[in-house]
Amino acid sequence: MTIPFLDLGAAYLELKPEIDAAIHRVLHSGWYILGPEVEAFEAEWAEYCGADHAVGVANGLDALILALRALKIGPGDEVIVPSNTYIATWLAVTAVGARLVPVEPDPATLNIDPSRIAAAISSATRAILPVHLYGQSVDLDPILALARQHGLAVVEDAAQAHGARYKGKRIGAHGDVVCWSFYPGKNLGALGDGGAVTTNRADLADRIRVLRNYGSRVKYVNEVQGVNSRLDPIQAAVLRAKLPHLDAWTQRRRAIAKVYADGLRGCKLTLPHVPDWAEPAWHLYVVRSTSRDQLQKRLSDAGIGTLIHYPIPPHMQEAYDHLGLAPSALPLARRLADEVLSLPMGPHLTLEDAGRVVELLSGVSPA
Ligand SMILES: *Cc1c(COP(=O)(O)O)cnc(C)c1O
Repeated sequence: MTIPFLDLGAAYLELKPEIDAAIHRVLHSGWYILGPEVEAFEAEWAEYCGADHAVGVANGLDALILALRALKIGPGDEVIVPSNTYIATWLAVTAVGARLVPVEPDPATLNIDPSRIAAAISSATRAILPVHLYGQSVDLDPILALARQHGLAVVEDAAQAHGARYKGKRIGAHGDVVCWSFYPGKNLGALGDGGAVTTNRADLADRIRVLRNYGSRVKYVNEVQGVNSRLDPIQAAVLRAKLPHLDAWTQRRRAIAKVYADGLRGCKLTLPHVPDWAEPAWHLYVVRSTSRDQLQKRLSDAGIGTLIHYPIPPHMQEAYDHLGLAPSALPLARRLADEVLSLPMGPHLTLEDAGRVVELLSGVSPA
């Protein structure tokens, strides 16, 4: 690939001295589980997100599962989720034994459509779990208002939204709990798995802190049946080295998104719609086309890497066969899977790279 979709090796080389020093700091500290490095990252991440608390966990899926467990959501409860998301959002709900209630996206933003949520609320509903998909915040205010009105929790899946803003305020503490992934390909990525939750609720932060560590606050004293889901101190150190660069990387993503938006206007492609209250983190730049596969091949033949997020929606996965949801039960999610294409996006790209992608795509006949 002359323009790879993502280049994680380049991201490491860009910061090699800082990252190597951070890792060596942990190696020499003799402290390999939780401890000062994890605590320092938690403080820095909470501050960045504008949240009172951050708790580091092993990965993004566990962040979601532990958030739901901390809210005591389980069998007999219902959780509203987007039909168009990465399967982790759904897996967290079924992992705690709760029932999934999928809601279709707004066809303009591809994020959960707040106007469809009220109809999905029942007497068993306990939480709404919106996802800031592709790094663009969902319209949170109507969701928070519905939650208040019905006494529901709001758990945000922010695994793609590091640094994104909603009405000027960074994602991180709008809902009850916000769940993060630091999987290497995310906008803030570790060199392995990592995750966190941020929240302004001290009760939830405390419960998740206990749950992630065997249900234990004091060694060998177990209050609840917890799990082992701790953020690794080496990953915390890597994240601390990277965090000061996150805003510059987001700026670069924004500049690339602008080259795409300006260059592709007028092409026979549906471009991302950005409402004026959203400042996306541009985790992905997703265009839509009914001839997606041909476009992907054209780019691939020219050495340009693209991906599809996601080729099979959760309700059509074998894992959820038992729900008995026909493909047509969630027609928008199904249709998007056939039309979406993620263009190369990331701080490894130059504006010239983005221009080259535009050039290849602008051969697509005008709308
Ligand atoms: C990456 C991702 C997750 C899961 O994160 P992991 O760290 O891989 O477990 C959850 N939700 C969304 C939307 C994601 O993109």
